[in-house]
Amino acid sequence: MAQIKKNVVVVGAGPVGLLCALQLAHNGIPVTVIEAEPSLTIDLRAGTFHPPTLEMLAPLGVTEAMMEIGIQVPRWQSRDLEEGLIVEWDMAILKNDTKYPFRLHLEQHRLTPILFKMLQSYPHAEVLFSHPLHELTQTEDEVSLLVGKDEKSRLTAKWVIGADGGKSIVRKACDIEFEGYTWPERYSVISTNFDLAPLGYADNAYISDPVQWIAFFKMPDVKPPGLWRMTVPVDESLSDEAVLTPEYGNQVMKRALNGQLQKDIPILHQSIYRVHQRVAKQFRHHRVLLAGDSAHVNNPLGGFGLNSGIHDAINLTEKLSKVINENANLEILNLYERQRKSVNLQYVQELSVKNKKQLEEKDPNIRQERFAFLRKMNSNDVLRREYLLNSSMINSIQTANLIQ
Ligand SMILES: Cc1cc2nc3c(=O)[nH]c(=O)nc-3n(C[C@H](O)[C@H](O)[C@H](O)COP(=O)(O)OP(=O)(O)OC[C@H]3O[C@@H](n4cnc5c(N)ncnc54)[C@H](O)[C@@H]3O)c2cc1C
Repeated sequence: MAQIKKNVVVVGAGPVGLLCALQLAHNGIPVTVIEAEPSLTIDLRAGTFHPPTLEMLAPLGVTEAMMEIGIQVPRWQSRDLEEGLIVEWDMAILKNDTKYPFRLHLEQHRLTPILFKMLQSYPHAEVLFSHPLHELTQTEDEVSLLVGKDEKSRLTAKWVIGADGGKSIVRKACDIEFEGYTWPERYSVISTNFDLAPLGYADNAYISDPVQWIAFFKMPDVKPPGLWRMTVPVDESLSDEAVLTPEYGNQVMKRALNGQLQKDIPILHQSIYRVHQRVAKQFRHHRVLLAGDSAHVNNPLGGFGLNSGIHDAINLTEKLSKVINENANLEILNLYERQRKSVNLQYVQELSVKNKKQLEEKDPNIRQERFAFLRKMNSNDVLRREYLLNSSMINSIQTANLIQ
């Protein structure tokens, strides 16, 4: 049986895989996405987009489509459960640094249909659902992929992008180590349509607490007033079943709002998941490239996970397009690894771990020092701008671009 020959195969129709395919298709390159699931997945995951991400997605028309349904969040808060508001950060200070001086909140599962719809307008792009990758091998000239268990469904490709998430089969097939660790505690995500704005909360707030920190995000949902989503760490002694109950949701919500909520509120969604800090040892293995969660995973504090996956997708497909369309030297693909791996280790891993440690800090003196530091950062325009250039990932992109 002759194998079906493809130019580029992207494994995984998550946001990173679809974006890789869209940019390649936009550059005139035939591309096939294979996805294990029968349709786009709709579970609750990331939902914060930083300014550089919006800048990168703008030329493809994706940012405009996202802005139509997303919520612009120009102000976000650093809070403490006991002390209340510490600082409200105003991102308007970045107006000369970016066209988008705000965070955009939009559910990840509402971004993927945008990407999918745009991809469908290219006749040389296809997305094959219910096509799980089982095996991958490569020679000097091509990559062979067994899709499904039947030998008839074997594909070959010149290039493969593994965008198949944290448990990536592509990464495992290439025997690439996923270096790092898994946190002992799980995180729970709890959503309500109870409006927190009248209680003084900005659309995004991080609340430190030595027992159980809280991160609030207002998400647009399908219509106003949207949903308030809370992420909290879960005590290791509790079972998943005990956490996934409205009683637990309400107990945590009441604690998070520090006595401002007397009665139960509707809990509309709940989930629980494990959190890791891991980076693949290589982002390239000959003709196979990793992007997004298959290359790196981190805790959600700071909202860097999906953003950095999108930064990978744009960086990688710009370079792969040059290799395919302009016969650029393959060394350019190693530059992708150098740029994106270093920035992930130096910035995404470091800052997400720092954010977590600061929110859960138990020592009262260190906690007070941090509050003083945040207030000082917010006290003048130079310091505030520097702080926000970092937290909004603008510095991370500038750092990556300097790497040769
Ligand atoms: C439960 C959960 C909650 C999260 N919450 C947050 C958050 O609050 N904030 C934040 O910033 N980040 C969060 N993240 C991380 C964020 O969702 C990821 O960074 C983002 O999904 C990465 O996108 P991706 O396209 O790389 O991978 P994914 O979104 O995981 O997409 C991978 C795709 O590959 C497909 N696939 C997998 N294996 C195969 C195979 N063998 N063959 C074919 N297809 C395959 C999958 O079905 C999926 O569609 C969360 C992640 C999880 C798991």
